[in-house]
Amino acid sequence: MTRHDRSRPPMLRRPAPRPLGTAPEDAEHGAPVVRRGKLTIAPRDASYLRSPSSRPDTQLHIAVFTRQYAVGSGMAGIAAACDPARILLDEGLFFGAEELRRSRCRRPGCRVLFAEADRQHSDLEHMRSYYGLSERHGICLGLATRVRHDGRPGTVVDTAGRYFVVRLDDERRPVRCHVTYAMEYETGPGEWTAVSPVSHAAAPAAVG
Ligand SMILES: [Zn+2]
Repeated sequence: MTRHDRSRPPMLRRPAPRPLGTAPEDAEHGAPVVRRGKLTIAPRDASYLRSPSSRPDTQLHIAVFTRQYAVGSGMAGIAAACDPARILLDEGLFFGAEELRRSRCRRPGCRVLFAEADRQHSDLEHMRSYYGLSERHGICLGLATRVRHDGRPGTVVDTAGRYFVVRLDDERRPVRCHVTYAMEYETGPGEWTAVSPVSHAAAPAAVG
């Protein structure tokens, strides 16, 4: 890792996050796993715990796709951000990163992303309630979402307050995008939904 990498935000040092259902063979190594638009956590794979030499391990790790799992026959899978070559995660036990806080893994690779997850969770909760895109357009705002900004396709890789950080397919440098301005969201394979700006001022206090 170069000094230049260190100065970049943690999410931008990694490949774009991918949804949980992605085949690990199709994901880049180290790409964070996203469930419902947020980073995902899981305990170590249970088959490890059945080994007589291993001690109980109840820590929850941030999930990333791995192409370098070095134990047993498998190479690709879902692993811990703190050690993607050696800690495979239990794919039946995913939680949102904001849950079960006391069991968080504190090793550097996970710790950095837990801090990011907390920030993103707060940003996303605010965006979701403020813009109401789920209610108005059936769009679940979050990481790993495919979007078109000014017609150019890309992937949401991070949040920045009220904005998304988007990695466009045709540009290396990530761009900051407003949630509704010049944005379309992929709502089905090849199906894009343009969104309208929120108009809280015009809306009467219908829900109290
Ligand atoms: Zn960990």
